[in-house]
Amino acid sequence: MIYCDKFFPTKGGPSKVYDYDLLVIGAGSGGVRASRMAAATGASVAVAEERYLGGTCVNVGCVPKKLFYYSSHFHEDFSDAKGYGWDLSVNYFDWPTLRENKNTEIARLNGIYQSMLENAGVTIYPYRAEIVGPHKVLLEGKTITAEKILIAAGGRPYVPEFSGAELALSSDDIFYLEQLPSRALVVGGGYIAVEFAGIFQGLGVNTELAYRGTQLLRTFDQDLGSRLASEQTDKGVTVSLEMDVETITKNDQHGLTVSFKNGRIEDYDLVLFATGRKAYTANLGLESTRAELRSNGSIIVDDYFQTAEPSIFALGDIIGTPELTPVALAQAMAFVDGQFKQRPRTIDYSYIPTAVFCQPNIATVGLTEAEAINQFNEISIYRSEFKTLKNSLSKNNERTFMKLIVDVASDKVVGIHMMGSEAGEIIQGLAVALKAGATKALFDATIGVHPTIAEEFVTMRTAS
Ligand code: FAD
Repeated sequence: MIYCDKFFPTKGGPSKVYDYDLLVIGAGSGGVRASRMAAATGASVAVAEERYLGGTCVNVGCVPKKLFYYSSHFHEDFSDAKGYGWDLSVNYFDWPTLRENKNTEIARLNGIYQSMLENAGVTIYPYRAEIVGPHKVLLEGKTITAEKILIAAGGRPYVPEFSGAELALSSDDIFYLEQLPSRALVVGGGYIAVEFAGIFQGLGVNTELAYRGTQLLRTFDQDLGSRLASEQTDKGVTVSLEMDVETITKNDQHGLTVSFKNGRIEDYDLVLFATGRKAYTANLGLESTRAELRSNGSIIVDDYFQTAEPSIFALGDIIGTPELTPVALAQAMAFVDGQFKQRPRTIDYSYIPTAVFCQPNIATVGLTEAEAINQFNEISIYRSEFKTLKNSLSKNNERTFMKLIVDVASDKVVGIHMMGSEAGEIIQGLAVALKAGATKALFDATIGVHPTIAEEFVTMRTAS
């Protein structure tokens, strides 16, 4: 990484009163986009980053996770290939090769982020930033001033307090493991937990997924969680619902012994807690300003990302909106439009598509059935569940599930949910249709692409 060695802007020139027009805290998804776009308007911009350029998504989130997901799926692909005449008797997987190739790719992406910022004229400070006043930030003991401060410091994994919690790993640690465990416990029922359970199992780790609730992915449509539990079980993951960890201790075999609240005791080599994330506002210095926090630590902003301190703005995971990279990017563009292009605008958070890279994939856009029931007088539900053509020869028992939710009064499709191969790729186009207000009649009038899985979305005719 290359950084500025002086505490003065290198390009763009300082504004009259302050060192910079904009100082961004955090070079993650939102911070990098906001810095670049603001600098492109001619503003003098600096960004402070304490860990790694690209933030969570590039270093310990979306990107390395998807690479690991790809790797973990080859095992099933090799097995599927047999029915198609291929004999790929593969029985060896080399974790260090995957980890190092992933590290090389992430280093390449870090470099791209660095040159994008430099080319845009943004000064990079490789330090932790602490706010010490409405226009002042402390960086390595030196004070930098800016007309506007943008906080894009993201979140950090949250592990609840219990005896032995320090022995559990978080998603931040998992990408750099020295070696793969033989037996792993993944704790949690959200998207990160189900993704890592699939990754571990696919890479040959004997994996248990333990969740204290009764349904995985409980914020998703209720049809998805139960089906996912059964598919994951078929693929070899031990799914244990209503299973809550009480303590973790080290055992004599250099492993970990977990006591569950129901009295069960088991040994594992690794315990991953994927039990949510918290806004990273600790020790940020916001108490030196009028900015306000919610009880969960996230920053309160208005629709234009402004805090109660007029010179301080915040966006991305730290403000409590949907914690997704494309949301942080969209917010960054809106922030720059409002503050540097005199074109203030708000973000429409409806119909944000999202995918879970569990096995099989899940993707969703719009309302869940429960939300639609609350919102509309009458809804119709179209469901389809089937084994794909590909799985006929492979004898893979994986089921694909698709669901459309329609508001009867307007005939508009208000929710689409899918579990199956490439669900994330399929949902993106459908999200455009929903955003455009597509009706069920329009779906029905659309000709399908045959033979595909996606064509099912335009051929469902009977409401369930
Ligand atoms: P971040 O990207 O977290 O960036 C914040 C940056 O600020 C960090 O680099 C941090 O080091 C820095 N920082 C914090 N405090 C300071 C300080 N005081 N001084 C200097 N620097 C500081 N989203 C998706 O859309 N799709 C996915 O598939 C997906 N998968 C994910 C998988 C995992 C395991 C995780 C953890 C997240 C995933 N996400 C995914 C979420 C996505 O990564 C976040 O929504 C996104 O990164 C948020 O961007 P941000 O700019 O708000 O914060």
